[in-house]
Amino acid sequence: MTELPWSNPARVAALHAALAERILVIDGAMGTMIQRHELQEADYRGDRFAAGYDALFAPDGHAHAPGCGCEGHDQRGNNDLLTLTRPDIIRGIHAAYLDAGADLVETNTFNSTSISLADYRLQHLVRELNREGARLAREACDAAEARDPSRPRFVIGVLGPTSRTASLSPDVNRPGFRAISFDELAEAYREATAGLIEGGADVLMVETIFDTLNAKAALFAIEDEFEARGARLPVMISGTITDASGRTLSGQTAEAFWYSLRHARPLSIGLNCALGAKELRAHIDVLAQVADVHVSAHPNAGLPNAFGGYDETPEDMAADLRGFAEAGLLNLVGGCCGSTPEHIAAIAEAVGELRPRAIPRLEAAA
Ligand SMILES: [Zn+2]
Ligand SMILES: [Zn+2]
Repeated sequence: MTELPWSNPARVAALHAALAERILVIDGAMGTMIQRHELQEADYRGDRFAAGYDALFAPDGHAHAPGCGCEGHDQRGNNDLLTLTRPDIIRGIHAAYLDAGADLVETNTFNSTSISLADYRLQHLVRELNREGARLAREACDAAEARDPSRPRFVIGVLGPTSRTASLSPDVNRPGFRAISFDELAEAYREATAGLIEGGADVLMVETIFDTLNAKAALFAIEDEFEARGARLPVMISGTITDASGRTLSGQTAEAFWYSLRHARPLSIGLNCALGAKELRAHIDVLAQVADVHVSAHPNAGLPNAFGGYDETPEDMAADLRGFAEAGLLNLVGGCCGSTPEHIAAIAEAVGELRPRAIPRLEAAA
């Protein structure tokens, strides 16, 4: 791996200084907060996408006109599109999490890859959604920092897992089939990465990883983009334990997951989503022992209820995560599905006085 300089050494130094001093707080769920606004199709579309397609773009370059033949697609649920059509809402969510005490906020770009955007026929928006998503988070962090310059706030540029799985077939009768290739994933991630960097992300996070091969494609693409730019950002990695046996969808335990990805020399390794704090504890415990980098956890607000919602209260979630911190397991902590600014405020308060995990010095692997 080439030794590239940091693209912004002062920001990286501020991040490391903060990590040495305390447990840093990541924000909570974006989707849960968007749901509170009960948005309708027209909200998602705004003016630019009023017809269900992009008024500013056609694949063959034609000028849209009545009868041009373009067909709209429903956009409700395309939360990342709100970065363009309802930036006020996304900005407000970032501000609420910063007010609650988050040191790091995640961009609204979980599905901003060509693979996920193709579901809405908007794959041409990858660069723009990532750039603007990072820019909104950057503005919110800069505003919070301006109010309290002693406390730096960081933008995490989020790269989600996509809906495709590179190492497994979606068809049990055709185990050799793949719905996506490594190269296709890498290409998609590279474009997203470029946008996040252009928009001003401080760090990148490959998160909610259910398939380690997808994550490898993302990390490969990120490295390519860093090399092309001649500078790098710190990279966080966060996997998802999806099954009761304590494995990712592609079959790895937390320990195997770390050893598959440690070559990327991430800023942090951690776990998020699928489980609540209680269920996640044993797996974070393993990472805290085996990883010689920072450890992060941003669990869901408990396990989903019968309606797919999350019921764990801010107090309960914060008490569980305080237990993680008291055991010396955490460097970064936040919330995933179902968590809100109330949860993040309770978590920030619960871990605020506790020491961050000391990174173990491990024997160099052969
Ligand atoms: Zn048209
Ligand atoms: Zn989640």
